[in-house]
Amino acid sequence: MPFLALGLAPALARAAERLGFAAPTPIQAQAIPVVLSGADVLATAQTGSGKTASYVLPLLQGFVQQAPTSPRRVRALVLVPTRELAAQVGEVLRALAQDLPRRPKVVVLFGGVSINPQLMALRGGADVVVATPGRLLDVVAHNALRLGHVGTLVLDEADRLLDLGFADELQRVLALLPARRQNLFFSATFPTSVQALADGLLHQPQRIDV
Ligand code: AMP
Repeated sequence: MPFLALGLAPALARAAERLGFAAPTPIQAQAIPVVLSGADVLATAQTGSGKTASYVLPLLQGFVQQAPTSPRRVRALVLVPTRELAAQVGEVLRALAQDLPRRPKVVVLFGGVSINPQLMALRGGADVVVATPGRLLDVVAHNALRLGHVGTLVLDEADRLLDLGFADELQRVLALLPARRQNLFFSATFPTSVQALADGLLHQPQRIDV
């Protein structure tokens, strides 16, 4: 089974196959072993490349190796530019986590809708949060979420995060995270602003270009 050969747990390889992923895409083949190694990643990734599973699968592997804590604490944070992408990443996380013996709780946060159901969803904590930056800060301001145990940060579609004016919010979120963490940075394009963000965020990143 090719996903197994990348170092993934059988439950995750099985879930990928059940979703119809017969073999890893090029970005998955390159990124999964690097993310599993704990290194920071700087990936040039287009939509449709399979980039989501390239970070979701290794991120979930962390919950195979170490079950969710009780009470739940956010160990992985995925920042995305839009509500659509947030919902999509949340679905991929849940689908791929289905066979895990101790399933992490995934909460998705985005603006443009009432905050109350999202605050309710955070009762009892969360293990993985997928969020747009503005709503994430709102939820933190409501004392509904703490980010002091985040071990992995993902920036997905980093160029769009900056295009949509999230630079300030991003910096405010980063200030809430532990300094020691793994950072995974995905962007379709690398104008100077995106490169500068990556330079400030990443520690000796492995570059992945597919
Ligand atoms: P993404 O680039 O993450 O938005 O994924 C694009 C599409 O490719 C999604 O519909 C995924 O379900 C699908 N996909 C991701 N990985 C694979 C794979 N290894 N084999 C086949 N389809 C995949």
